[in-house]
Amino acid sequence: MSMNIPAYGARAAKAPLEPLVIERRKPGPHDVEIEILYCGICHSDVHKVNEDWSSTHFPVVPGHEIVGRVTSRGASAARFQEGDLVGVGCLVDSCRSCPECRAGHEMFCEKGVTFTFDSPDPNTKTWTYGGYSTRIVVDDRYVLRVPKGLDPARAAPLMCAGITTYSPLHQFGCKPGDHVAVVGLGGLGHMAVKLAAWMGADVTVLSTSRDKEKDALRLGAKHFVATKEPGALDPLQGRFSLIMDTVSAPHDINNQLALLQNFGTMVMVGLPPADTALYAFALVHGNKRIAGSNIGGIPETQEMLDYCGKSGVVADVEVIKADQINNAYKSMVRGDVRYRFVIDAGSLGA
Ligand code: NAP
Ligand code: ZN
Ligand code: ZN
Repeated sequence: MSMNIPAYGARAAKAPLEPLVIERRKPGPHDVEIEILYCGICHSDVHKVNEDWSSTHFPVVPGHEIVGRVTSRGASAARFQEGDLVGVGCLVDSCRSCPECRAGHEMFCEKGVTFTFDSPDPNTKTWTYGGYSTRIVVDDRYVLRVPKGLDPARAAPLMCAGITTYSPLHQFGCKPGDHVAVVGLGGLGHMAVKLAAWMGADVTVLSTSRDKEKDALRLGAKHFVATKEPGALDPLQGRFSLIMDTVSAPHDINNQLALLQNFGTMVMVGLPPADTALYAFALVHGNKRIAGSNIGGIPETQEMLDYCGKSGVVADVEVIKADQINNAYKSMVRGDVRYRFVIDAGSLGA
């Protein structure tokens, strides 16, 4: 049993996004049916549509920063009621019983996680379709509660950009007074700045765009460095205990490693489509560490949302209509984003 839902997606690699009709299952006993209000545009959506990672199945309907209202629920989905404001992030199912699922790291499910879009869908035997649509049906175990008081449009990017930056700040023990650098001031980068500043860190933004300086300081950074300016990195050698690299395109990471304190860590969250050279010398002198971090599991995502509910940390967004999605993609490829485009889902069915 399925239903037809208006959506926006791409039919082929690099093709413009256009209106589509997708099929979703009717809600089962454990499901929550959600009327989508807003969906953020993550650079991963752009990579997928452009087939930067060579793994996209078309047509693709992106979107994993979803906020909406529960319109119905199955008899066993008792955690939620009609009218609740809820979120759906990057994943919608997993086996629930493997060690990773039991540890709350569902993104590493040993039987294979079901991502919110472009993932094999065990229910329909097709590929999952994401949040650029008007409705979604999700098992309630993977549905998140949006704390009262958070603006729905500004909370949507927390579902990916929020958890992807919150998790490594926790993993690497960000604490008051730490010198933390954020490389790239886009969707992830601006959340990293807000969260690290809220945790009490002394935050520096490393950006290719000098014109983002005022914003960086307003978002909570204490320092701003325009990395393309000659000599810009010289005064920062050995300064940071943690560097979070959110850049979406290939770039030099060896000169960033030089900015770490001894025993400091650079965590990669950006996923550029091409390889980056890493010189052993850049790590060995000073016992530097390089790490990666992949979104976050359901319990940690709820913890992050509750943290944002208490602190009031939400994204800076530009709400757009469906017919502006293709222009938003172009802006993001240029690095021109302030700081997350969020689709008004009401415009998708229009
Ligand atoms: P975004 O909003 O487009 O921001 C990326 C920023 O990177 C840009 O605003 C720009 O900042 C900088 N940049 C772009 N091109 C650059 C270049 N050639 N050289 C140096 N800097 C450049 O993207 P996003 O949504 O934050 O996503 C960032 C990356 O994280 C993407 O690759 C995405 O796929 C990945 N991602 C990973 C995870 C994960 O689980 N690890 C989750 C979500 C997204 P400035 O103007 O400040 O330089
Ligand atoms: Zn994302
Ligand atoms: Zn599992």
